Amino acid sequence: MRTDTSPAIYRKDYTPPSYWVRTVEMGFDLDPSATRVATRMTLARNPASAEQAIVLHGEELELVQIRLNGKNLAKRDYKLVDGLLRIPTKAEEITLEIETLIRPDKNTSLMGLYVSNGNFFTQCEAEGFRKITYFPDRPDVMAQYTVMLRGDKKKYPVLLSNGNLIEQGDLGDGRHYALWEDPFKKPSYLFALVAGQLVCQEQTEKLKSGREALLQVWVEEGNLDKTQHAMDSLVNSIHWDEERYGLELDLDRFMIVAVGDFNMGAMENKGLNIFNTKFVLANPRIATDTDYANIEAVVGHEYFHNWTGNRVTCRDWFQLSLKEGLTVFRDQEFSADMIGTDSGRAVKRIDDVRVLRQAQFPEDAGPMAHPVRPDSFVEISNFYTVTIYEKGAEVVRMYQTLLGRDGFCKGMDLYFERHDGRAVECDDFRAAMMDANGRDLTQFERWYSQAGTPRVKVTTSYDADKQTYDITLAQSCPPTPGQAKKQPFHIPVAIGLLDGKGRDMPLSLKGHSDQPTTLVLELTATQQTFHFTNVTEQPVPSLLRNFSAPVVLDYDYSDADLAFLMAHDSDAFNRWEAGQRLATRRLLALTEAAQQADSPLSVDVALSASLRASLNDVALDPAFRETVLTLPAETVIAEQMEVIDPQAIHTARRFLRLSLAKDLRQDFSRVYAANQTDGPYSPDAASSGKRALKNLALSYLAELDDADAHTLAQAQYDSANNMTDRMAALAALANSQAPGRAAALAKFYSDFEQEPLVIDKWFSLQAMARTTDVAAVQTLMKHPAFSIKNPNRARSLIFSFCNGNPSRFHAADGSGYAFWAEQVIALDAINPQVAARLARSLDRWRKYAPALQEKMRAALQQVADTAKLSKDTREVVGKSLA
Ligand code: ZN
Repeated sequence: MRTDTSPAIYRKDYTPPSYWVRTVEMGFDLDPSATRVATRMTLARNPASAEQAIVLHGEELELVQIRLNGKNLAKRDYKLVDGLLRIPTKAEEITLEIETLIRPDKNTSLMGLYVSNGNFFTQCEAEGFRKITYFPDRPDVMAQYTVMLRGDKKKYPVLLSNGNLIEQGDLGDGRHYALWEDPFKKPSYLFALVAGQLVCQEQTEKLKSGREALLQVWVEEGNLDKTQHAMDSLVNSIHWDEERYGLELDLDRFMIVAVGDFNMGAMENKGLNIFNTKFVLANPRIATDTDYANIEAVVGHEYFHNWTGNRVTCRDWFQLSLKEGLTVFRDQEFSADMIGTDSGRAVKRIDDVRVLRQAQFPEDAGPMAHPVRPDSFVEISNFYTVTIYEKGAEVVRMYQTLLGRDGFCKGMDLYFERHDGRAVECDDFRAAMMDANGRDLTQFERWYSQAGTPRVKVTTSYDADKQTYDITLAQSCPPTPGQAKKQPFHIPVAIGLLDGKGRDMPLSLKGHSDQPTTLVLELTATQQTFHFTNVTEQPVPSLLRNFSAPVVLDYDYSDADLAFLMAHDSDAFNRWEAGQRLATRRLLALTEAAQQADSPLSVDVALSASLRASLNDVALDPAFRETVLTLPAETVIAEQMEVIDPQAIHTARRFLRLSLAKDLRQDFSRVYAANQTDGPYSPDAASSGKRALKNLALSYLAELDDADAHTLAQAQYDSANNMTDRMAALAALANSQAPGRAAALAKFYSDFEQEPLVIDKWFSLQAMARTTDVAAVQTLMKHPAFSIKNPNRARSLIFSFCNGNPSRFHAADGSGYAFWAEQVIALDAINPQVAARLARSLDRWRKYAPALQEKMRAALQQVADTAKLSKDTREVVGKSLA
């Protein structure tokens, strides 16, 4: 083992900055191979700090000059070690001028200033600003920025930065300039600049107060036919935040810029959001319904950050979920409101819970498990996780569940009243929620400090004579790294009781006089019993309605109970949940059977009858029916097993899909025919729901892999007028023996060669196809359109295979793991953040059978033994092996 590991940083070691920065003036002379950055800042000593020095961060910078209060500093006047520049001083007020030289064209990490397709972009969150200039690059240092951009007029006709455009003009030498001023103080991670050949769609929009704002969506020429949906989503976001939270856009200009090389989804830089093209560009030809929905969600997310993240920001990076959990919650609610119907809201909730279970639950049970507010990290980039984002959003949602919508809004109001313009902690948010509502939420803090997914075990007993019903809730939480024992959480458990006809019973519980049909039980002790009276018959309990807490709920339902809930529960989430429980039960049994060579897999008539009923229930929305008929993912089944057997899970799930296809063949055909959308394409919820159900039917029928299925898929492929239908048809063909398989894949490629986002889909679909093994992936990597340097492309092929094709990735010969190690190492030399994400694919290695475990450990070790490894990747593999 190598020992040169970077030290961890601890939350408890937080100290305030020695100097505050008041103003920052920056001048950029843009040049791909040598950009000169001149920064002048005014600083004021922070009396709360004992440190007698200015402390600045800097990485990969060529330092040209430093001047303090107008005087050039010599080397002996400061210390520069390990990315920290210290200038000893006690002065109260200081003007510091720093000149640095950087090389954007050599920047493949995509942090700091970089070049993508000839244009300049920045990415500063979390610690990228230090790759531009020396600066106290920490979120609690908030300053006012003025930015002068200078560059070649032809190569960089567009020059953008945060805030308002103050002045622009010609410099006479073939260059021009633009001066930008951001009226709001901000932390350095929200700094941004963009320069290059871009065009925009723009419009003005009237705000709540009557002010007008200029909205722009900037893209490369040729993509202007793909910006309308992002613009519509921005307009909707603006008005939603006005209506739901009374929050108005505080700038006269709001810009979104799309870039093809980007590590993440998008970035909320003040007034100048920078987006992965994947979350901006859409038209029916290139984007699926899911793409449309994702664009709406991400545009909303970044826009909502303007208040939850930018106006009120994080004191330190341990508080990351303060802005991310809250903003994900806000974008989830926004998307739900945009659909508008109750059933649509339920489908959105189901989608969000699926992400949580597929990605966050495994994270919370693995070697990288961490609390929503972590206590330590080596590399903060590794903590942009599903725990910080999605579990963080669940934690915020629980406030709303406990306090009600109005109570939650009051808490938000108080939060802004207290903290606008400040950098604060998760505790400040909780305090605002408590104080605005006069509620004690002290114990709720454990959701921030304790990792792991709590389990709630439920037992019930009915007394027919006394007409009482007892619900006993008992909680526990498995150990996680560094946290052996857990204290009880404050868990809201929403419940209802169904009578024999499937109707909600009015609930009589001490302290609740109004007899509601859904009650939020508050579990705060290790075990509590809730005593219901006037229960006139033995009920079937509907537990954890709408997934009121991010827990695993354990209750011994009979199959009949589950079928009953599937058919009757008034809580749509729990109707779906009952079906998932039933299917999981069958899949686990089938998996076990698949592991025994001599035990044949058998069909289950009860499950198929329940699914048939939902499939054919035209009173239910198509979108909802699609979620019911979709079986739990292989990774979700995996998490339920003591020892994961990816091949057996795959065999079981395919077997169940095939038997459902045989059993419900007529039904699927009918549903397929009944859910055609004609007329011009529209991504609205009703149309996309129909397409989802129709394409689900297609995918089941494709399991039959017969001539009829081939013809159906081919016909849909040939006649599709939108990418949703085209992709669904191509997926059906790609996973079949259809004679047209190869031709369809080839045609798809040649039809969309000019559309990078579609070519990503083409790679991704093949990476996840059933027949694709490591050798096939390696062949695809040699395709001229493949490039490991572009994160979207690397994700579309390498990540899709490692994370989205479990049965092939976990091949018994270990070829998947050897491939993984090779790619992590290759990526690490190019882009540590992307490499470290891929490194997460072996997180759960200890859950597999010994033979696989050994091969996974060897692959992890091979990466760990690599001489020059980033601290990003080293932290991940180090923690996996620990
Ligand atoms: Zn965010």
